[in-house]
Amino acid sequence: MKTSLAFPIRQATTSRRHQLDFEQLVFGKEPTDHLFISEFAEGNWQNPRIEPFHDIRMSPFSLSLHYGQTVFEGMKAFRMNDGRVAIFRPDKHHERFNRSLERMCMPEVPYELFMQALHELVDLEQAWVPELPDAALYIRPFMFATEARLGVKVSDEYIFMIVATPVAQYYAKPLRLKVELEFVRAADGGTGSTKCGGNYGAAFYPAQKARAEGFDQVLWTDSHKHEFIEESGTMNVMFIIDDVLVTPPLTSTILDGVTRDSILTLARQRGIATEERPMSRHELQAALRAGKRVEVFGAGTAAVVAPVEWIQIGADGYSCYTGADAVMFSFKKELDAIRTGERPDLFGWNYLV
Ligand SMILES: *Cc1c(COP(=O)(O)O)cnc(C)c1O
Repeated sequence: MKTSLAFPIRQATTSRRHQLDFEQLVFGKEPTDHLFISEFAEGNWQNPRIEPFHDIRMSPFSLSLHYGQTVFEGMKAFRMNDGRVAIFRPDKHHERFNRSLERMCMPEVPYELFMQALHELVDLEQAWVPELPDAALYIRPFMFATEARLGVKVSDEYIFMIVATPVAQYYAKPLRLKVELEFVRAADGGTGSTKCGGNYGAAFYPAQKARAEGFDQVLWTDSHKHEFIEESGTMNVMFIIDDVLVTPPLTSTILDGVTRDSILTLARQRGIATEERPMSRHELQAALRAGKRVEVFGAGTAAVVAPVEWIQIGADGYSCYTGADAVMFSFKKELDAIRTGERPDLFGWNYLV
């Protein structure tokens, strides 16, 4: 899509691209050469532009630092086999961004502004989109409150930025997860369905405890009785039991993941039965105890499919199926094939830059 807008670009005088070894990338460490920035003031988005990547100055009184009005998105641009660059489902990320912003009383970003900013930035940074298999350019749009005021209030001023960083192939080591029976990630009516910064800061402590106990992450459960499985760390969780793909329904405590939606769509297209319904830990435990083949995986932009090999429920631990023929891996393969252009993009998911 080309919009009628065109934002000014101030180009970096030199590129840092060639100082980097794309085979040795640390996730989220190396910014590309440029960023997009626009300030919100007096009810409008002002001066949208692309500049060389730079630090920002802000008042220590900035409201986001004190009361947490900050929201982000995460998506990827891929190198197709024919050399072109495609961004995966940016419209869906834009919709979700605006839903998060609304919940946090922050101004929405109009579609044209979001898409043009994304298009121009990724177009300018094409050389930063890796050609290695499974590698990508990770794109992070985000917004935070900048009004300088210590009083507790909704900010009248914001910065909307987009930054990007190349990411290597994600080695999806099978995860060992602990069903979390003490802490909660999200409560009904809270902010669990949004990508607001506070959700992630609040999840560090339980995750750190789980790691000290020898697990990689937690499987979050509901805030009422710790009965229903909700998410896997910062990914959606999916189960394949008796040839049925089950994932929790989208409630106020579940993030509406683009990967989740894509996998559900592919499964339905293949004729695999799918159910968006609550999965209790007792149901999961019964299936594991019965010795059934149970596939459990996290679904998210970073790993796409993150296989789970072990689930700890209280004192009892169970292993899940992670064999090479597991159905979950076929979803990752299919998504990769759509992104590289090896398979037709039947759902219009690739936005070509
Ligand atoms: C971002 C995120 C997901 C996955 O969403 P994708 O759009 O697939 O990347 C799932 N759960 C949480 C809590 C998230 O923050």
